[in-house]
Amino acid sequence: MSKLSLDRILQSQGFGTRKYCRSLIEDGEVAIGDEVIDNYRATFDTDGLEFTIFDETWRYREHVYIVLNKPANFECSRKPSHHPGVLTLLPEQFTWRDLQPVGRLDHDTTGMLLMSDDGPFIHAQTSPKRHIPKVYVAATHDPVTPELVAQLLGGVQLHDEPAPLAAQTCRMLAPHELEIVLEQGKYHQVKRMLAAAGNHCAALRRVAIGELTLESLGLEEGEWAYLEPEKLALLR
Ligand code: URA
Repeated sequence: MSKLSLDRILQSQGFGTRKYCRSLIEDGEVAIGDEVIDNYRATFDTDGLEFTIFDETWRYREHVYIVLNKPANFECSRKPSHHPGVLTLLPEQFTWRDLQPVGRLDHDTTGMLLMSDDGPFIHAQTSPKRHIPKVYVAATHDPVTPELVAQLLGGVQLHDEPAPLAAQTCRMLAPHELEIVLEQGKYHQVKRMLAAAGNHCAALRRVAIGELTLESLGLEEGEWAYLEPEKLALLR
């Protein structure tokens, strides 16, 4: 059990500086259950704690794990240069919590993007030692051929890699569409592998990480959801 004062609780959840959180509490904007709490020193057990701010109810979370169905034309960088950042699609307190994308998708790639403020989790998910499969659907400029699939499965040489990179699995879905599963997460990997195999990626969507599929989440593009423990367990 961990007991914290209400101002610390709100600050830890990303609602602003300690000073601002105190002013919210003193202004009567914070309730626990039906009771407005205007004493910022009041302490509460954080396990499963729910609190309401400006009529919106939140649950205390030591760390947040989020999945976003990323639309095109958003950058994964925290300091985006040409397009808005993905953090602009999420509630503001996640920026205060220092939420980071878990690996990156290109600005024009859509689909499953994980985000978290849990450093060890981000590290584990992005570690090259983990070999977590990532499933992409690519629209191709030229038709998908059995030779293209065979090349991607056999391995293609990218100019800055010491050895050829191969897809874990790869299959044609439609004349101009293929599913490709990668264990690595190299820069522009799908696009560069397709180019090295003589085709061109016209559009790219990530549809699954480990056993967690975008379809099972039912998120429209631009929508996000918390990943609760049973979903997190699928990210292997
Ligand atoms: N491979 C790419 O080329 N781009 C992405 O965004 C992800 C994988």
